[in-house]
Amino acid sequence: SIIFLNGAYVRAEDARISPFDRGFTFGEGVYEVCIAVNGNFVDAPAHLARLDRSLAACGIAAPPERAELHSIMKELLQKNDVRTGLVYLQVTSGMSSRNFTACPEGRPTLMMLTQASDFEQTPAFRDGIHVQLQEDIRWLHRDIKTTMLLPQVMAKRNALANGVSDTLFYDALGITEGASSNVFLVDGHGTLVTRPLSNLLLAGCTRERILELAQEAGFVIDERPIQRAELATAAECFVTSATYLVAPVLSVDGRAIADGKAGQVTRRLQHLYCAYIAGEGRA
Ligand code: PLP
Repeated sequence: SIIFLNGAYVRAEDARISPFDRGFTFGEGVYEVCIAVNGNFVDAPAHLARLDRSLAACGIAAPPERAELHSIMKELLQKNDVRTGLVYLQVTSGMSSRNFTACPEGRPTLMMLTQASDFEQTPAFRDGIHVQLQEDIRWLHRDIKTTMLLPQVMAKRNALANGVSDTLFYDALGITEGASSNVFLVDGHGTLVTRPLSNLLLAGCTRERILELAQEAGFVIDERPIQRAELATAAECFVTSATYLVAPVLSVDGRAIADGKAGQVTRRLQHLYCAYIAGEGRA
């Protein structure tokens, strides 16, 4: 496959990143995952705006290609013959000696790759997922989309070892988010509940769009933390992310949500979101 690295399109097997890259030695990097459907990106401006926020929050300089990122993303899809799939975009601060506070010499590292995937045909989207709960042991700036993903990798591996497909994190206030998604609950009155934005969770681009589509469709929305105990009485639960789109959550820690099937509200929001990404969400 072809990737984009520091100004050039190269074959992945020919790409070279320095061992002195601070993304490697210090995890000093941020990233985005934006999906394309039939050659068009979904909410690319929101993903690029969040990239800018993540870079600024970490004190990483914007890559010199910043103004062209959208067109580079498009060209990368075309070079790889991908019509529906994801673009992964990572920026690290660049190279320096192995010293915590050294300033990087030269440019920030920019790497972009693409993977074909049909998001509306995944088992998670079609059938739903089973999840487990784990205490959220991550740092207190989960609003920054950093590449320091070890807690998420461990949580997802642990989920697989326990026979489920993902982990939802909780803190003292309730559910924070999934290991790579935002969490919504539908209560007995049909109200959509999701945790309000703060430093304790990522502002998902899909979360934002779902809230807007749900509001337009007349749903009542209550942005407040979801208590773990509420999952036992919830009518429905689902997670959102660029790659999950909207995925029904069927059980938590082995206990079914309602009847253990994808709910009506979840199916409706899947439908609205798919119509959105097939139409006006494109860029
Ligand atoms: N929360 C976390 C921790 C994530 O890693 C992600 C996406 O990967 C999300 C939420 C969902 O964000 P988005 O909808 O922008 O993909």
